[in-house]
Amino acid sequence: MTVKEVALGSALAVLFFAGYLGYNVLPFLFFGGLLYVLWFTVTNRNAGGTQVALTPTSKISDVDFEAIGGQEMAKNELREALDFMLNREAIKRLGIRPLKGILLHGPPGTGKTLLAKAAASYTRAVFLAASGSEFIEVYAGVGAQRVRQLFKRAKEMAKSEGTNHALIFIDELEILGGVRGKHSSHLEYDQTLNQLLVEMDGLTLDDDVQVMVLGATNRIDLLDPALLRPGRFDRVVNVELPDKEGRLRILQLHTRDKPLAEDVDLESLARDTFGFSGAHLENLTNEAAIMAMREGLDRIYQRHLVEAIDKVMMGEKLDRRPTPEELRRIAVHEAGHALVSEVLRPGSVSAVTITSRGSALGYVRNNPGDDRYLETRELLEEEICVLVAGSAAERRLYGSGSSGAASDLRAAVDRARKLVSAGMSELGVVDEEVVPPGLLHRTITGIISEQESRADAILAHASVALDHLVEVLVEKESLAGDKLRDLLRSQGVVT
Ligand code: ATP
Repeated sequence: MTVKEVALGSALAVLFFAGYLGYNVLPFLFFGGLLYVLWFTVTNRNAGGTQVALTPTSKISDVDFEAIGGQEMAKNELREALDFMLNREAIKRLGIRPLKGILLHGPPGTGKTLLAKAAASYTRAVFLAASGSEFIEVYAGVGAQRVRQLFKRAKEMAKSEGTNHALIFIDELEILGGVRGKHSSHLEYDQTLNQLLVEMDGLTLDDDVQVMVLGATNRIDLLDPALLRPGRFDRVVNVELPDKEGRLRILQLHTRDKPLAEDVDLESLARDTFGFSGAHLENLTNEAAIMAMREGLDRIYQRHLVEAIDKVMMGEKLDRRPTPEELRRIAVHEAGHALVSEVLRPGSVSAVTITSRGSALGYVRNNPGDDRYLETRELLEEEICVLVAGSAAERRLYGSGSSGAASDLRAAVDRARKLVSAGMSELGVVDEEVVPPGLLHRTITGIISEQESRADAILAHASVALDHLVEVLVEKESLAGDKLRDLLRSQGVVT
């Protein structure tokens, strides 16, 4: 019998006795009932919420490190940390502080969850996953209770699975572990984070189940410094966007179980997908398979994969069709970008199209060549020149620009600002913050108008080719990079 039951029984007995003595007990019964209903609602909400959330996604994970493409550095660092965790006896002998938490830091979709699952299967640990947002409720104390319950569950599950390792994965750690005192309902946030710190501090080498916490975030700057202190998440593993080799490996992994036609060239796809995360690449292979299915084919061809790149980058093709005059203007604009791009950097265009997708009316897809991590002045100037070439072509053929160039011009301003802040403009090395706004503005517009003249000169020199390219685009709607180069070569614009 619990204290609650004894108290309830005694109160009822007193009321019954008072009624027997002739007192009016109805008001007491009424208020007592009301209080009970209130208490029941609040406690059940808390308990109910606790049970619904934090359902572990799996027990022992079957994802291994081989299922993760690229990310060699992250995998090695993680494996090293896990080996250390597995070597409990040596750690104890040398009196080393055990590793309790590892933080996976990187952009969305780069495989952090996969890495956590692989870490669990590598250590034969039960795997419990939760997201930072699942801990936060409007009811004070619920988050802390969920944290306690998560650690308790991890230990219970490990025991029932017959292993002495448990891995708790907390995605979106910045929601639960943001800097304390910063939230409007900060008491609840703070209590939850404090509880996580308490649980992590309580983990020792002598526990019969070794619990390790893996956090994932793409905003490490938002985390409370207490979380990153030694003894908590003291190992940070960076999970970056994959490089070309990594993208190739991920594409290979995600096409393993898909029937590919002989013309499929994953290397060229890896080259054309600079900036794609693993999740984007997985989506790309999936979209290509859907396109093949829609066409009633039993294999995926290169053209499906190439179109899927556009779909993942720009969104679904739009049903809305521009008017013939608009279409011609779009063709002029895109032809300008494509022509100048090929003249400045031969081989740089993968495709040019005037089919509208997402928010773009038409677009040129560039092949970035090898992954680049540094931008020189020449490179930034070339980029600006290509960006303004669309509106330069419109002005050349129509005498005026259009609103379609707005996003190009924003991107051009960004690049020009980069030139200034990296000390590559005529202002030399400056602190952008203290440059008078008028001077900054003049410098940026100066850089851009110089590149506009450059683009215009290239288009003037190739005006016949430009007209021809516009006609081809209006007729065919899109042109692959090598077809574009054939056309420009036949017109003597490129060699
Ligand atoms: P988020 O930060 O948004 O939670 P994440 O970094 O945890 O993302 P995952 O959930 O691990 O990313 O990846 C999503 C999907 O993308 C995976 O299920 C997988 O299909 C694919 N993926 C991502 N990275 C890789 C990779 N390196 N190798 C193979 N597949 C990958």
